[in-house]
Amino acid sequence: MKPDGPLSYGNLKLQSSSDVRISPNVHFNYFAHPLDLARCVSGLKKIGDLLNTKSLKAFKGTEGYKFFGPTLPLNQTDDASFGQFCRDTVSSFWHYHGGCLVGKVVDSSLRVIGINALRVVDGSTFNSSPGTNPQATLMMLGRHTGLKMLEQRSS
Ligand SMILES: Cc1cc2nc3c(=O)[nH]c(=O)nc-3n(C[C@H](O)[C@H](O)[C@H](O)COP(=O)(O)OP(=O)(O)OC[C@H]3O[C@@H](n4cnc5c(N)ncnc54)[C@H](O)[C@@H]3O)c2cc1C
Repeated sequence: MKPDGPLSYGNLKLQSSSDVRISPNVHFNYFAHPLDLARCVSGLKKIGDLLNTKSLKAFKGTEGYKFFGPTLPLNQTDDASFGQFCRDTVSSFWHYHGGCLVGKVVDSSLRVIGINALRVVDGSTFNSSPGTNPQATLMMLGRHTGLKMLEQRSS
């Protein structure tokens, strides 16, 4: 489950300002905001409801459904167990972005603030998660920015 627009904030700290091979320290701080946890609990309970439907029973083996990882809590009314399940299973995928935010590091034209001749056009400038695999959004952002630059040069 991937909640849109989590309210919890983490932070990213560069380990090196000169060597790009040294990965930054990332502290995700998931579920720091109680509403994020409540959304996760509600989403997982919905999935639990779905798994209990007649339509899905046909896919159930003798030992229940086969899951990768831990199974959902059995008691659908036990919010605390669902909350713990969220905390235990939350993980980050390979789609980090948002380290060079529009308005903070770059302006709305993706120019590095204070340096007009330098733009950053990549996933670091996303204000929010595109909610899908990011490559397509990145390619469109590159094309859009490139076309805008050409337009500006010719006017
Ligand atoms: C294992 C894995 C699988 C993935 N699978 C998919 C997938 O199936 N579909 C999908 O849509 N996305 C996938 N992604 C995510 C996708 O690869 C990234 O979101 C995307 O590549 C990000 O593009 P970007 O241009 O923002 O950054 P990057 O592709 O990371 O490019 C940034 C570049 O900037 C360079 N750089 C950084 N700092 C400096 C500096 N100071 N000076 C000079 N150069 C610098 C880096 O070396 C790098 O080449 C996957 C990611 C991983 C890790």
